[in-house]
Amino acid sequence: MTTLRLILGDQLNPSHSWFARPRADVVYVMMEVRQETDYVLHHAQKILAIFAAMRHFAQELQRAGHRVHYLRIGAAENRLSIIGNLEQCIASFGATRFEYQEPDEWRLDAQLADYCKTLNIPSQMVASEHFFTARSDAADLFKTRKTWLMEHFYRHMRTTHKILLDEGKPVGGQWNFDHENRKAWPGLPAQPADWRTGHNHTDLWHEITEAGVKSFGNPKAEALPWPLGRDEARRHLDAFIAHALPHFGEFQDAMSEQAERLFHSLLSFALNTKMLAPQQVVARAEQAWREGKAPLAAVEGFIRQILGWREFVRGFYWAHMPDYVHANHFENTLPLPQWFWTGETKMRCVAKAIGNSLDNAHAHHIQRLMVIGNFSLLAGLAPEAVHRWYLGVYIDAFEWVELPNTLGMSQFADGGTLATKPYVSSAAYINRMSDSCKHCHYQKNERVGERACPFNALYWDFFDRHAAQLQGNQRLGLVYRQLKDMNAEAKQTLRERATTLRNEIETL
Ligand code: FAD
Repeated sequence: MTTLRLILGDQLNPSHSWFARPRADVVYVMMEVRQETDYVLHHAQKILAIFAAMRHFAQELQRAGHRVHYLRIGAAENRLSIIGNLEQCIASFGATRFEYQEPDEWRLDAQLADYCKTLNIPSQMVASEHFFTARSDAADLFKTRKTWLMEHFYRHMRTTHKILLDEGKPVGGQWNFDHENRKAWPGLPAQPADWRTGHNHTDLWHEITEAGVKSFGNPKAEALPWPLGRDEARRHLDAFIAHALPHFGEFQDAMSEQAERLFHSLLSFALNTKMLAPQQVVARAEQAWREGKAPLAAVEGFIRQILGWREFVRGFYWAHMPDYVHANHFENTLPLPQWFWTGETKMRCVAKAIGNSLDNAHAHHIQRLMVIGNFSLLAGLAPEAVHRWYLGVYIDAFEWVELPNTLGMSQFADGGTLATKPYVSSAAYINRMSDSCKHCHYQKNERVGERACPFNALYWDFFDRHAAQLQGNQRLGLVYRQLKDMNAEAKQTLRERATTLRNEIETL
């Protein structure tokens, strides 16, 4: 009697109860497959880091006495698809049972569920034992409510899991310290030194390219900075808590060309591949506040991202898939300009944010939301194409977390199911929060004319074009009052400038 257990590339959780003790009757199968490298065009670092971490995980399991069957990308017997390999493994190991952990992505969930229906041996999907919540918990919470409000979910999570609570009340007398967390970065305190160490993966990179896998972005194969396993990820967590968490909140929304990471944790890859448990990250952050090592506003802000947003978007994803991926509230159809793949645009903030993404497979939240996403929505890029770019480029991009963030929060493609208003801004916000406008080809204070910052005309034109859908939104009252005060000629000039910008998007 042999049980075959599948471990996917984002299921590298050594604390899963599967691994409590080695069992001679269980074979774990892990595989590097084209199905997973090719479902979108991926950043080179993402493919490298996931395969490297998978190999590391397989070795750890073997060292602990587990039986592991690992299919490398270049192996002759690798059929390069999950189902093809499973069929082969079930036959060759004579498996009498098949088990897998719940996939986090809808496409894999559906594929494996369908496959199991065709099997003539028993099969079972088990929990991934990673998240605070089950897939359907958020949907249950919002069953009787009209809108999905993150803040409501977050307070529920704080109470349920007794986090930052004293005698049932939020510590510090309030749930949310966001108003303290919106500062620009003046250059001090200094960004902490990068605590990550580079790993040489040139051999693996060679194997990947030899296998014909296409990718984009800087592979950094000689010094890949992403963690390989739990011990290393924990060291990153410790360094973040010691060096960056104290300033995380204050400068959470800031951007600087001098400091790409600022005080962000860079833990998303380790979290999303399940090397790190969110419970552990949250507990360590709370402990830092209780020991007086970080201020409450920073710790609360950080915990809100993980206990709040991360769990919230996952619940949202499972409640809204599979149709969500096609949401296109504004019926935007413009293709992505070529410079999304090179970073070569004269809009300096966009060039920096895309350049950072191409170089590091990472950009922090405000670059993703208020620069790249902001431009995409204002210009009217097709949301599904934007989604595919985000899904490919970021080291932490797995559809369950990327899709609600991109389509919902950033592109408002669901018409406001996730976000209460579109996250867009003109140059004024970008100038306030970054240092890019100072050296930009475009003029931040001008709305029209060849050197006017494109964000300005696109911003006003966006609200003008979508007035029918947006002007009833209470959170947008000020914008629409300002538009109302604008004379017809000014509006027409902005409209024309925005049309030119869209027509000439490749040259911006
Ligand atoms: P930090 O700023 O240090 O935050 C700590 C942790 O909080 C992150 O590691 C992450 O796990 C969690 N977190 C923060 N914000 C969010 C959020 N909005 N949703 C879910 N979790 C959050 N995050 C991903 O993990 N994968 C994605 O594919 C992804 N795509 C995004 C696309 C867009 C358009 C936007 C606006 C945001 C996206 N995010 C995504 C959320 C966020 O930008 C990243 O989690 C964060 O930048 C990762 O870097 P970090 O680990 O340094 O995060």
